[in-house]
Amino acid sequence: MNRRRIRLDILSIFGSKVFNDAVMRQRLPKRVYDSLKHTNREGAPLDPAIADVVAGAMKDWAIANGATHYTHWFQPMTNVTAGKHDSFLTPTLDGSVILEFSGKSLLAGEPDASSFPNGGLRNTFEARGYTAWDPTSPAFIRDHTLYIPTAFCSYTGEALDMKTPLMRSMQVLSSEALRLLRLFGNNTTRRVISTVGAEQEYFLVDRELYEKRLDLKLCGRTLLGAKPPKGQELDDHYCGRIRLRVAEFMEDLDRELWSLGVTSKTKHNEAAPAQHELAPVFASANIACDHNHLTMEMMRITAKKHGLACLLHEKPFAGVNGSGKHNNWSLSTDDGINLLDPGKTPWENVQFLTFLCAVISAVHDYSDLLRLSAATAGNDHRLGGFEAPPAIISIFLGEQLTHILNDIATGRDIDVPAAVSLQMGVEALPNLKRDDSDRNRTSPFAFTGNKFEFRMVGSSQSIALANVMLNTAVADVLRDYADRLAQSDDFDTELKAIISDTVRDHSAIIFNGNNYTADWVAEAERRGLPNLTNTVDAAESMIDAKNINLFERTGVFSEAECRSRYDIILENYAKVLSIEAATLTEMVRRQVFPACVRYAGRIATDYNAMTGAGLNAAAVKCHLNELDGLIAHLSANLDALEAEHRAADAIADHRDRAAAMRDRVLPAMDSLRASCDALEAIVGCDEWPIPTYTDLLHRV
Ligand code: ADP
Ligand code: MG
Repeated sequence: MNRRRIRLDILSIFGSKVFNDAVMRQRLPKRVYDSLKHTNREGAPLDPAIADVVAGAMKDWAIANGATHYTHWFQPMTNVTAGKHDSFLTPTLDGSVILEFSGKSLLAGEPDASSFPNGGLRNTFEARGYTAWDPTSPAFIRDHTLYIPTAFCSYTGEALDMKTPLMRSMQVLSSEALRLLRLFGNNTTRRVISTVGAEQEYFLVDRELYEKRLDLKLCGRTLLGAKPPKGQELDDHYCGRIRLRVAEFMEDLDRELWSLGVTSKTKHNEAAPAQHELAPVFASANIACDHNHLTMEMMRITAKKHGLACLLHEKPFAGVNGSGKHNNWSLSTDDGINLLDPGKTPWENVQFLTFLCAVISAVHDYSDLLRLSAATAGNDHRLGGFEAPPAIISIFLGEQLTHILNDIATGRDIDVPAAVSLQMGVEALPNLKRDDSDRNRTSPFAFTGNKFEFRMVGSSQSIALANVMLNTAVADVLRDYADRLAQSDDFDTELKAIISDTVRDHSAIIFNGNNYTADWVAEAERRGLPNLTNTVDAAESMIDAKNINLFERTGVFSEAECRSRYDIILENYAKVLSIEAATLTEMVRRQVFPACVRYAGRIATDYNAMTGAGLNAAAVKCHLNELDGLIAHLSANLDALEAEHRAADAIADHRDRAAAMRDRVLPAMDSLRASCDALEAIVGCDEWPIPTYTDLLHRV
């Protein structure tokens, strides 16, 4: 195919399964189209009178594109999406059928709310839940079904999903940012949008091998497996040549995503063997979140088609890097101005500096909430492992911006940096303009030129909560700034005071050094920054009085919603660990233990044969003794895990159960794993019952 053909191909594929702007313009009466756009652009309330017309147009378009069903697609608090599928079919009195989709069916659906995590907000006897059409995220067709993005709430209006709080947080952020912009004299912007680009890391392993490992199938990660001779030591995988089988998978995935309107842009190999990454072009936080869900789902499905399995777990393999999701976040006006773009002369750009200060204060005051947004049982294995940020939130600003803020705060003349170009010492190469700050790969929250990159989020998580926390905390600070500026007689003096106050009160959150060192952990403690190393501890911030106040003040969560989410986080943590403990127990009892016994028996027979033939066989005896000792250990550790697991499972209180899983079950799993891995290293490979790390990491 020549380049032109390929280009045309992409253009015709992109958005072909989406009820997008072009389709709406074509199929909706102008009055209806304008009304819908008004809702989209400015977050204005939806006019229910247009629902019937939109529903009819959606149905006709969907049927013309092969759909037979529609679904209200929603995001319960499970990190995966849900929906039930209804056909358009409606019987008529004369015994025939017509295809129907009413405005009412578009606007609202009614799934059973008690069958999803609800943290006590719903009992099974009062099960009603509602899905409500989100007109700001486009509908699309998948598997002959029209997918309608929806928010999910209970009979009493409490949010039971990830989308509702995200949309609430975007709304409050927009209104507070607008108030501030008006004070800066901006009268044209109508809406401020939080923009997000989520870089997604993942692993690909051979499907046949995956099917042979119960831990990968049930838990998404390996619960045992000896260190392979080669992991990521040589740094030869990162951005290296993409192997053919993987390239074919990526090409297929891109096409699927493009057709769904997902702007998949960058693909490359990541640091660990078998690890890869996909980055889209950023979009509004709400659409980015929907698209990230689609990306994860299409990755799993496409991998299966290619005889592969896609692992989205945060730490599928011990000893090599785990996977995260870099949540790139910024603020944009509806007329396209990036409010976190410093421009060429940031020291003169007071509006930028004000928004920057708001982010600094928000992240400092609510670092516990940001940490919580990345807390899952899986991510606990990754954070702080010197491959990903530690569990301590800090901000990387870069030297230049840090200096500028300090100079303004202290009233010093600003030290304007000269533009620097890089001399590479080869005349044939162009001189490159150097960026104003270097990168810092170790920071959990880094300013990267015109956006912040929150790097803690786990690869399997929805990005919604991270953005809820960011949007809400920043909105609250912006509200305070707008109040201060509105009440002050002297705008410029008040602005300078805002910057000085930020430097005085919030510099502790700024750290431009290496976050992976033990020194930083000690320094962060001196600065009073929280170090919440695990999900159980991080969960507490959901019910902290300061945070409940923030959420109530901004209208993002009610107190009941905070408490339900707290319960869900702890319950989920305990369940994940319980499933892992049961899986490891089953694998060891039914696969590893019998294999080791069988192998030892074979060696014992061989030993008898050798000594019978008059040989000394001392090395064989030695090997047998070692096997015997390790098998005894294995057996004792297995019994210990079972006992701890049983005891923890019996604890009724959510928090105590989660803590027991963390403090008693997890260490028991580690000990049992150590016994298994020691045996794997000496048991003959024909006898070992499950695929090894070398098989999994180097087969594709
Ligand atoms: P980097 O090299 O810093 O990772 P890229 O330019 O490759 O930066 O962007 C990484 C991700 O950040 C992409 O998904 C990109 O779309 C996203 N991004 C870029 N600008 C913004 C912005 N203003 N708001 C949100 N995300 C952004
Ligand atoms: Mg990045």
